[in-house]
Order: sequence, then structure tokens, then C-alpha cells
Amino acid sequence: MEVDGRPTVALQRALYGHQTAIFWAHFFDKLGLRLVLSPPTNAYISRMGIESVMAETCYPVKVSYGHVRELLGKTAYLFLPSVINMQTPVETETGFYCPMSQSNSYMIRAAFAVDRDRTLSPVVHFKYDPETLGLEIWEQIGSKLRKSKAAVRKAVYHALEIQDQFTKDLVRKGSEILQGVQAFEPVLLVTGRPYNLYDERLNLRLGQNLAKLGLVALPMDFIDSSTVDLSDFPSMYWGLGAQILRTAKYAVAHENYFGLHLTNFGCGADSFIEHFYKHIMGDDPYLILELDEHSAVAGVMTRLEAYKNVIENTMQKLRRDVERKVGLAN
Ligand code: SF4
Repeated sequence: MEVDGRPTVALQRALYGHQTAIFWAHFFDKLGLRLVLSPPTNAYISRMGIESVMAETCYPVKVSYGHVRELLGKTAYLFLPSVINMQTPVETETGFYCPMSQSNSYMIRAAFAVDRDRTLSPVVHFKYDPETLGLEIWEQIGSKLRKSKAAVRKAVYHALEIQDQFTKDLVRKGSEILQGVQAFEPVLLVTGRPYNLYDERLNLRLGQNLAKLGLVALPMDFIDSSTVDLSDFPSMYWGLGAQILRTAKYAVAHENYFGLHLTNFGCGADSFIEHFYKHIMGDDPYLILELDEHSAVAGVMTRLEAYKNVIENTMQKLRRDVERKVGLAN
């Protein structure tokens, strides 16, 4: 229940946990607690999740039950926030998380006999300014943790600063990789939710498999797409949906960039977003991979190999067109 004399706080390595773990780790650290994550998704966690879920949901939600089950009773506190929204590049955007993710805290608490006294379940709006965010969190968990308003406020500022630095580091790394790409070398921009992009079980080791095929690929968080104009989708409700569409536009704007969208069967948000994604891609090649607990690596590899052929043909045509234009100019 303690690490280095600090009470432990458990966070699932699933859903919002992937995107907000840096923030929460530093937030709790500043308050004298220690964040503990569940292990990376494995066969046991996946099976436990599928067995525990009380309604038919997408695979990432099922897996989250397995992660929480793995954590139950092992830490001083179980942290089950209801994360409503995320920061957005344009102030007027709403940046909402999907309702399945927002409501996960309530569904998990209904499914498992969690100890309410040792559960922290604040409603969190990351789109709020730091002052309001600090107040919101303090009002909900300050007394349980016996932390003052000032201490929680200071922890929020500290954690936001580190989260911001982490986001910038990702983009800097992405930019370094893109600068090393040769002329006519294709680059895949992989869009999707963080809990798919960075979970090797949910994405069936997509990154490793693309590398085996010799393809350069970057997850969308390594691209700064914040300045891409999304005013033609004025009602884009979802924060991650907006980032997916901005990255798609970014890919279309570069001849050697190609889109790969990773999604799940049963994803309500993507039942809309996929149509917008296809609209943006227009005549450009793209691949949408829809996965769940029944998907297997062999099937994915077949589709990746086929997509690689399409990409190579497109690049050959591009090269011929450029060479012809240069020949004409001479
Ligand atoms: S966005 Fe889709 S995959 Fe993610 S929790 Fe919602 S329904 Fe599931």
C-alpha cells in the first residue's frame, strides 16, 4: 500500500490512462503519493476484462475492466476519474472524450465491489484553465487525501507543465524522424486512440509489424497538427476525433505521407469519424484497420502487405511524374 513511504494510487493502463498518466503521476508525486499503473495488457487482463464487462462494448472498454480487476485491493487508493474532455488547439472546440470512456468510472464501480472510502473518482475537465481545474479536483478529492487547496493547485500546475513538455518532446522526436526521411520514401501517419496506438495487444504489435515491412510510421501524437484548419468540420465534438482528422489532412498535404487509421469494431465515435476521414483522404490511398479481441496478426499482416504494395505503386508513379516534369523543363 506504500512505496518509499508514500501511499499508492492505482491507475488503469487503459482508456484515458494512456493519455493522462504523465499528468497524474506528477500530480500525485507532488502531493506525496505514488502512482501505480496496471501492467501492459496481456492475455490474462484481456480475458478478465471480457469476463467482467456487464454490457456489450468496444474492446478497449472491455480491457479496462481487466486492468482495474488486476489493481483491486493492491494500493492505498484506486483512482477512477471520469475524464470529460481534453485540451484543444482551438478554444471553441469542445474536445470531449467518448461517453464510453467518460462513463467508465461509473460502470467499473457498478461492476466491482470497490471500497468507496479508498476510491478517488473525480470528474475532470482538462479543458478548464489550470486554476479551475485545480479547484475542481480539490473539491472532489482534497478532503479524502487531506490536501489543501493550495497544495492541489500547485500539483496541477506542476503536472500540466510536465505533460506539456512531454507532448513537445514527442513532436520534436517526430520532427527528427521526418527530417531523416529520404526523397520519395513513404511515411505512414497512424491515427487512432492512445489506448490502441500504444497498447501492443490492442494494436497487435502494429509498430513492430510495420517496421518488419520496412515502412516508416509515426503515431499521430508525434505530429504537430494543431495548426491544421478544421473549420470545415465545425461540429467536431470529440477531442481525439479532431486530432485524427487534422492528422488525415496533414497526410493529404504531403505527397509521400499516407494514412493508416486504427479503430475498433463497435466504436460509436468512429462510425462517424471514418466517413470524415475517407472524405479527407479523397483519392489518396489509406488503410483503416478495425480490430477487436477476435482479430489476429496474420490477417493484419496480409492487409499491411497489400497496403505496402499500393504505397509503392503510388510512389513509383510520383517519381515517374517528377522525372518527366524535370525532363520537360530541361
Ligand atoms: S472512442 Fe470508440 S473505442 Fe474508444 S471508448 Fe469510445 S467507443 Fe470505445
